Amino acid sequence: MQADAANNTIVYFENQFVPIGEAKVGILTHALHYGTGVFEGIRGYWEPAGNELYLVRPVEHYQRWKANGALLRLHLPLSAPELAQLTAELCRRNGYRTNVYVRPLAYKSAQRIGVAPDDRDAFAIIVVPYGDYLDSRNGLRAGVSSWRRIEDNAIPGRGKICGAYVNSALAGDEARRNGYDEAIFLTEDGHVAEGASCNLFIVRHGALITPPPTDNILEGITRAAVMELARRELHLETQERSIDRSELYVADEVFFTGTAVEVAPIIEVDRRPVGAGAIGPVTAELRRLYFEATRGRLPAYRRWLLPVYHPARMDKAA
Ligand code: PMP
Repeated sequence: MQADAANNTIVYFENQFVPIGEAKVGILTHALHYGTGVFEGIRGYWEPAGNELYLVRPVEHYQRWKANGALLRLHLPLSAPELAQLTAELCRRNGYRTNVYVRPLAYKSAQRIGVAPDDRDAFAIIVVPYGDYLDSRNGLRAGVSSWRRIEDNAIPGRGKICGAYVNSALAGDEARRNGYDEAIFLTEDGHVAEGASCNLFIVRHGALITPPPTDNILEGITRAAVMELARRELHLETQERSIDRSELYVADEVFFTGTAVEVAPIIEVDRRPVGAGAIGPVTAELRRLYFEATRGRLPAYRRWLLPVYHPARMDKAA
């Protein structure tokens, strides 16, 4: 994964475009101590044929960011479309002609000790060049984590709250130390929730199944995109229902979805082969469709994309 910012990267910080080296927060910043921030992850794909950089579903990401900010009573002064335009401007100022990853971060910014937050809020948007998060071309090996997914009544998992990601960091670290590519979380009552940084689907007896939002998942934008592609292109309705751990072992196909992982086949769970131990046909087709759609090659899905360099290309037709 390449996600390092060069020294001359321009970021949006404290309502201005500044070089990344000038975007600094104080050591007493509330969010640094208590995790009181919400973040997003958005991808942009460079399409050399059209000389275009496409941001993928930026308005949906910013709508989620604003809603999650409200969970923490963090106020974001701009609308979701304004934030999407600001991000396109940030890409242009950096002159990016490569795949990118956008990291919006809103946080409680008071400089003082004390866990109860006040109304001092700030936000930043950073865009960096970005390649593969996980190389999933030949399928991933996943392991069920010994860490449980956080409960909505403890820390809302749907909130993409900074502090909540300790849960994902613990599970992801454990998985990698055990030789897996990614962790699979169970809920406290033992149902499959999601990966440490992605949603999960299974294919069983021809049905496409994914855990419901009430099983403590993040309501993924890629998850919704894949459900739409399955419905419209494969005539396959997704069942949202709880999934038992043992269904992972008997499923025909299992895959992850997420902005970073995209559509990532899982060929092994807990060292047991999934199906035939190779990438299954439904996963392969959804992966192909998602790839094509996010590169602007499927007219029906151009409405998902914000072109950075030629905004007139925005195609609102479904
Ligand atoms: N679950 C978790 C815990 C995540 O961090 C992510 C990444 N944002 C996802 C699922 C996938 O969400 P999305 O498709 O919106 O990136």
